[in-house]
Amino acid sequence: MNKAFDIGVESLSRNGGAETAGLEAGPSRDTVHSGKFDPTDVAAAKSFGETANGGTFFLETFGCQMNDHDSEKVAGLLLSRGYRQVETPEAARMILYNTCSIREKAAQKVFSRLGEYRERGADKIIGVLGCVAQQEGQDIFKRAPWVSLVCGSASYRKLPEMLAELEAGNKRVTGLDNDTDETFETEITRRDNPWRAYLTIIEGCDKACAYCVVPHTRGPERSRGSESILREVRQLAELGYSEVQLLGQTVNSYVDPTTRHMKFSDLLLEVAQVAGIRRVRFTTSHPRDFGADIVEAIDRESKLCDHIHLPVQSGSTKVLRAMARTYTREEYLEKIALIRGAKRAISITTDIIVGFPGETDEDFAETLSMLDEAQYDGVFGFKYSPRPNTPSLALNDPIPEEVKGQRLAMIQEKQRLIQTARNLAMLGQELDVFVSNKSRRENQWSGHTTSNRVISFSSQEQELLGSYVRVKVTDSGTGSLTGTHVAG
Ligand code: SF4
Repeated sequence: MNKAFDIGVESLSRNGGAETAGLEAGPSRDTVHSGKFDPTDVAAAKSFGETANGGTFFLETFGCQMNDHDSEKVAGLLLSRGYRQVETPEAARMILYNTCSIREKAAQKVFSRLGEYRERGADKIIGVLGCVAQQEGQDIFKRAPWVSLVCGSASYRKLPEMLAELEAGNKRVTGLDNDTDETFETEITRRDNPWRAYLTIIEGCDKACAYCVVPHTRGPERSRGSESILREVRQLAELGYSEVQLLGQTVNSYVDPTTRHMKFSDLLLEVAQVAGIRRVRFTTSHPRDFGADIVEAIDRESKLCDHIHLPVQSGSTKVLRAMARTYTREEYLEKIALIRGAKRAISITTDIIVGFPGETDEDFAETLSMLDEAQYDGVFGFKYSPRPNTPSLALNDPIPEEVKGQRLAMIQEKQRLIQTARNLAMLGQELDVFVSNKSRRENQWSGHTTSNRVISFSSQEQELLGSYVRVKVTDSGTGSLTGTHVAG
């Protein structure tokens, strides 16, 4: 809906697919991961990593930025054990899918992928990681008996031991705990984005939104110690990163588990103080935990980017209650007023679900009017779909797909008009742009503003990638800005 922004932890659905059904269970040597680690397996692991079929792996990621970043850490772990990452599953000895189950289509796509290895998976190690792994558990082995590893994200910290078991020849290894109080930290993270480094500061979720699988698939909230976060930010700055994005399903629910007891807003300010860091982003914020201190921190520190992703989900208090979102429409609008009262303009983006069970035309009209009141710079809209292991599953799915589709289209059209007008109002402004892409067209570049808008611009400079430049906005559309490089 809004291509100018590239955010979203709650904005999770970017994958579709078809279901592969009727797969049969087969015999195998099962290992349910116990957390015990046999050091002799490490030797086997190293030798496997270095020699077996080149110790190659292919890793495909579905879903949100949290998953993208988990994959970066998983890849780092494998690389540190001597594996080599390859571009295609055909070239790999180990094929890993880091999965998303937030929407049905994304989960179906994983089984479709697995189905491709029904006949030709014999000489491969195939693993399912992430939310579908946690959701489906050992049933994955029944549907796709050629799978060897099923590991939910809350068990990633045990991946070295699980890899050792696989490498030692175990055919079925699982990591499905979600009662951990630990976070997934690795010494080596393979960073896929050369310009923006992601750091997970809080994993899991203690909220209980009626439609959401995350509390089930990612476990309870676990915050990472502030010193560990700051140490990694310093390392990133030394590596040349000037922009970091702090991640969490509810990033602003962060609670420093160390004796420093740092508040989220204080952590933001300290991250911004790290030498070399010029931009700090964070996503996703939960409205209930969003306080004035975050806006005050942004007012105080210009390195904190002027963009907040604040999912509303519905404009109707009745529907919000049914969703168990823990705030009313009025309380949400108070948060919007806080942000609009900041000293500089802060972009606000959101997520909306249409067609939640019980959503009437009147409720939906309140969601539409929320767009008028909040004046979002981007909206990620989704049609409700019931998911396993969620409270709203019991409500069935009474709203017809056709009605959901109409409501989504109405959201999109209204937001298109709002965004077009908001982007038009930026004509003539000069913005700081971090240049992250060079177009194939001569003298054309693109990058992000601090409000996370993508802007394409012309410049006569020969090399701009990775630099910060001033760009004057000369044209605008619904999802994009165009400009020219100006001196200074
Ligand atoms: S806050 Fe709600 S929607 Fe977001 S991850 Fe937690 S349960 Fe899911």
